[in-house]
Amino acid sequence: MTDTKTWARVKSPWVLHFNSGACNGCDIEIVALLTPKYDVERFGIKLEPSPRHADVLLVTGAVTHQCAERLKRVYDQMPQPKFVVAIGACACSGGVFEGNYSVVGGVDKVVPVSAYIPGCPPRPEAIIDGVVKLLSAINPPKQKKQAGAPKAEPAPIVEEVKQNAQ
Ligand code: SF4
Repeated sequence: MTDTKTWARVKSPWVLHFNSGACNGCDIEIVALLTPKYDVERFGIKLEPSPRHADVLLVTGAVTHQCAERLKRVYDQMPQPKFVVAIGACACSGGVFEGNYSVVGGVDKVVPVSAYIPGCPPRPEAIIDGVVKLLSAINPPKQKKQAGAPKAEPAPIVEEVKQNAQ
């Protein structure tokens, strides 16, 4: 049953977008993903307005003091397992706003982050690549067994994400 749930989650992740203080540059790139040019719905990725139905939280912008509590509340409302993707330099580390009096810092200062996508702003292709890598880490492709081949150690990120997925 766990395999089925993981399969369904990977094949159709519902994403929630949260702007924690971005300049809107990163947000425009996320909106571009939904247009027919990039059309992420072909991968089953669907924009979901309610945190209670979302699997993945896409966060843009450095987290301001005003938004920190709201971000935490939205994250807490999401069902387990849940994943957070920090999109853009500001969400990854605070970016150009690091050290500003009104800014807490990157997203990981408030909620745990599963994937970081740098750039100012990152191109839509980079965002798709980051989300696909996250999904691959949740459900890595099964390796064909070769006689005599040593067993490969899974990457730490894959183990961590798999634990969150259970
Ligand atoms: S990373 Fe760049 S585009 Fe994105 S919110 Fe920060 S300043 Fe704006």
